[in-house]
Amino acid sequence: MATTTMPEREVETPTTRATKYVYFFGGGKADGNGKMKDELGGKGAGLAEMTNAGLPVPPGFTIQTEACREYMRRDSVSGDVDHQMEDALSRLEQLQGQKLGKGDNPLLVSVRSGAKFSMPGMMDTILNLGLNDQTVEALARRSNNPRFAYDSYRRLIQMFGNVVLEIPKSAFDEVFDAKKKQKKAKLDTDLDAKGLKEVIDEYKKVVKKHTKRDFPQDPHEQLVMARDAVFRSWQNERAKHYRRINNISDDLGTAVNVQAMVFGNLGETSGTGVGFTRNPATGNKEFYGEFLLNAQGEDVVSGVRTPVHILELEKLMPQVYRQLREITTRLEKHYRDMQDFEFTIQDGKLYMLQTRNGKRTGLAAVRVAIQMVEEGLITKEEAIFRVEPNQLYDFLVPRLDEKSGPVEVLATGLPASPGAAVGQIVFTADDAVEKAGHGAKKNPVILVRAETTPEDIHGMEVAAGILTSRGGMTSHAAVVTRGMGKCCVAGAGDIAVEEKTREMRVKGQVFKEGDWISLDGTTGRVIKGRLNTLPPSPDDPEMLKFMGWADPFRTLGVRANADIPRDAIQARAFGAEGIGLCRTEHMFFAEDRIPHMQAMIMARDEKERRAALKKLLPMQRSDFIGVFRAMDGFPVTIRTLDPPLHEFLPRREDLMVDIALLPYADAKQKKSMVERYRRFGAKGAADLKKVIPTVLRRVEELHEFNPMLGHRGCRLGITYPEITEMQARAIFEAAVAVAKEGVKVHPEVMIPLTATLKEMANQGAIVRRVADEVFKEKGTTVPYLVGTMIELPRAALVADEIAKEAEFFSFGTNDLTQTTFGFSRDDVNKILPTYIAEGILKQDPFAALDREGVGQLVRMATERGRRTRPKLKVGICGEHGGEPSSVEFCHQVGLNYVSCSPFRVLTARLAAAQAAASETLKVEGGRTK
Ligand code: PEP
Ligand code: MG
Repeated sequence: MATTTMPEREVETPTTRATKYVYFFGGGKADGNGKMKDELGGKGAGLAEMTNAGLPVPPGFTIQTEACREYMRRDSVSGDVDHQMEDALSRLEQLQGQKLGKGDNPLLVSVRSGAKFSMPGMMDTILNLGLNDQTVEALARRSNNPRFAYDSYRRLIQMFGNVVLEIPKSAFDEVFDAKKKQKKAKLDTDLDAKGLKEVIDEYKKVVKKHTKRDFPQDPHEQLVMARDAVFRSWQNERAKHYRRINNISDDLGTAVNVQAMVFGNLGETSGTGVGFTRNPATGNKEFYGEFLLNAQGEDVVSGVRTPVHILELEKLMPQVYRQLREITTRLEKHYRDMQDFEFTIQDGKLYMLQTRNGKRTGLAAVRVAIQMVEEGLITKEEAIFRVEPNQLYDFLVPRLDEKSGPVEVLATGLPASPGAAVGQIVFTADDAVEKAGHGAKKNPVILVRAETTPEDIHGMEVAAGILTSRGGMTSHAAVVTRGMGKCCVAGAGDIAVEEKTREMRVKGQVFKEGDWISLDGTTGRVIKGRLNTLPPSPDDPEMLKFMGWADPFRTLGVRANADIPRDAIQARAFGAEGIGLCRTEHMFFAEDRIPHMQAMIMARDEKERRAALKKLLPMQRSDFIGVFRAMDGFPVTIRTLDPPLHEFLPRREDLMVDIALLPYADAKQKKSMVERYRRFGAKGAADLKKVIPTVLRRVEELHEFNPMLGHRGCRLGITYPEITEMQARAIFEAAVAVAKEGVKVHPEVMIPLTATLKEMANQGAIVRRVADEVFKEKGTTVPYLVGTMIELPRAALVADEIAKEAEFFSFGTNDLTQTTFGFSRDDVNKILPTYIAEGILKQDPFAALDREGVGQLVRMATERGRRTRPKLKVGICGEHGGEPSSVEFCHQVGLNYVSCSPFRVLTARLAAAQAAASETLKVEGGRTK
């Protein structure tokens, strides 16, 4: 029986305990169960569930998330946590017949984080806790393996030193590398017991130097310190970053799991591994995983050693293999989902360390969902929730176009995350961020690393693809990229990556930063040079089958934002049921159109403006014809001109530089200037003196301090009615022409940025007048609507008024977010990272609709608009139209449709179907987050 009670415990034990902080599991019974993820975290709930199911799980206890939240609030835990933890420890000691860090057969424990949602590798873990100068000797005797004992102790000091005492990893690495060099050891495993003992002495000096105290020898003190460090790791930068990307609340906190250690590194009959009950990349029903003999868990996941396929285990330890198969099959049936499990074999005995619903690619998610329905494990309705809407993007990821250039395969690694990526090599996460650029200056980069660690997350996020030379299918790089839906080739062992010299060596060739490579994440091939990528086919039969189950639940329409016929055709292929936004100004940016657009802007009077518009008319008309044809029978919403005019003209600063340079320019420079100003009337060098200042004058006239709040939207059409006239004419002439071909057309003309009823009435009158004119001229009529965007809070407030004139509403939530928050949508990134880090905003309101504020306006305007016009058609066409949580909100508010970029149409369809299905089926999900 354990006697290691702390003296103060007897004195302080409270008579009533309001909160149960610690949940024991072991001996075939657990205090908690699998449903208690909120309290026990995913890992703790899994351990409880597995214990209750009679699986061989090393015993231990879980300190629940409330203790972490308490720690975050007060910087310490309450006495109750300490007491309950000591009680649980005594129980554990009794069950094991061992004492923590004491005696001939000391109990050693692992201390691991475990939040409600899995955050792989983001928080901290301490293994081998309980070792000290005495117990290391006991362990050496008991295991008859001094090397293993000293190695475990040095790992503890290193992990504890880094995680708990916050000593930089490099301080320990330097000692270890120096010792290896001194002993001429190639691999870590080449260091013998004596060498490791020397490493331990040096490590202890490192601890003393950095912390001014000795490495704690008291195992109870070690435990308390480790527990608190794991709580603190909830708040580390990479964990916060991961939560931000994955939309996980900062308030949840992590549980801490303290569990008796079992050792996979006791020799050749021990080992450790991870696996999946099905292939997480393809979804195929095959036992999938990897293991290493004579190793600890971190060796497998960190990617330091490349593991062996799990099927090899059958040859090496057939009985263990059979037991593992039997247990994992049972687990899958029990959880009714694909499992991702961890196991350790100690001296030939199998222990299950963890099981959870496995992360998988979109392709795998769909396939597994379909298989499980066919196997009778889940219903079709449940299957709908087994795929995250964003995962459908995987079906739309590009493939390499192998005909676009020579295919020289440099190496083949593991197909860790499917798709293709082509980009320039960078070797560090920081370089990836720097070189990847933003917006128009975006540049594809491939992050090439020996292995990735959670510290690389910011670089992985911006990279087009990831290549690692080490690690397996469950390495950090593989798991994280699959979650991101990003192409990754992992463990390409033929490649040597030299981060210091920024070089990648393979097949006798040296590649430097900036060199192009192409990755095939579906086959694992690394290809030299820059291949093109092919657009994927969205007609995968399994995906279509899956959508065939989901779509019937959907009540919300899904349209696409598309400006040109090509995008409209693509959108149709992805299942768009119309165009929700055609930004006509995008048609004007094309090379052959911009000169006419500029001429229109430069016009001195209406006559000149009309002349330029006349040239634009046929071009617009032909674009509309293409879009109408592509959308055969579906509605097409066309927005009249919206952006500030200066966007079409050269920048003021550039003009001023050209004016200053002109007197000194040589013939060649003048020639290039003539080229640039030809569209403004410069025919030869002599004209430049007049033309450039004229352009500058017009640019200055158009200059606005706040162009986003300036001369744009319906204000353009009101001040220059001939623009709206021309556009309306192009729309209706195109509509009539296409209708005459027998194609059904439903144009919806949309007026942007209205704030008042009279603006709407003004523009509506022009559109309707032109429609009548065209119909009369052509002798054909087509049904059409005139409506407005709701992009300004005022418009939302007076929506009942505006609906008198507007036959439909479409929320432009990009502008509506901008004008509701008063954030400039182009400059918000200066503020946003701090706002998110400080918790002022939970997420980027331009990405996920702010339900509280902007959402309230959406709800209100919809209700008010429909008060005036009960059948008012209402949609949304801001970026939020393709973001799952925003789509769910739009469903709840009762909008008619969402509109998003073609590539997000599938995602929006599934999100809308899930939103509707969760109402009718009253299911919470069963999602595989
Ligand atoms: C919007 O404001 O949400 C919108 C769709 O229009 P744009 O992004 O073109 O301003
Ligand atoms: Mg807008």
